Amino acid sequence: MNIILLGPPGAGKGTQAQRIEDAKGMKQLSTGDMLRAAVAAGTPVGLKAKEIMARGELVPDEVVVGIISDRIEDADCANGFILDGFPRNVAQAEALDVMLKEKGKQLDAVVQLEVDDAILLGRIEKRASETAGGPRADDNAEALKKRLDVYHAQTAPLIDYYSAKGSLRIVNGMADMDDVTRQIMEVLER
Ligand code: ADP
Repeated sequence: MNIILLGPPGAGKGTQAQRIEDAKGMKQLSTGDMLRAAVAAGTPVGLKAKEIMARGELVPDEVVVGIISDRIEDADCANGFILDGFPRNVAQAEALDVMLKEKGKQLDAVVQLEVDDAILLGRIEKRASETAGGPRADDNAEALKKRLDVYHAQTAPLIDYYSAKGSLRIVNGMADMDDVTRQIMEVLER
């Protein structure tokens, strides 16, 4: 099964993706984690992405589309994958449609974690204070505001995009973590 987890920064996509990975043997593919690894390793992609990410803006579509296109072919994705942080705009969603078609793969569900903006800032401040090795470069008030603006302007339109295709499943991301996991498992079994 191949799915997308959709939701604003701080919605809990990473936590839930790991739980689905453990429960279902699908592979979590977090473009944010992959880009942060590239930044830490100082690769050409990382050098390109570093400042853009710190500002809370999106790295160029061709960078993330290329990463995902390569990654979903790997053997550890044979049992399915969980896209976490990708696609983030309509152009990326269209590129995903094309690459899946070319590779003979399909998308089984898009799970939207619904969380009000008012809750997100508090969650991210908490994460910033708990992250081992110090907070992420973009877990500060200014970059978060930018990430939320980008989410509403560019990523939220994907809700309509996938709703029109009939693949959207909505989950209440404001419930406690275990309850969110239960809701996700339920919509995936439908
Ligand atoms: P969050 O969901 O908390 O905002 P992520 O770890 O998913 O965090 O992403 C962090 C940053 O990585 C984004 O703000 C952006 O700069 C970059 N990034 C991640 N995924 C993408 C993507 N699909 N397209 C463009 N940029 C991305």
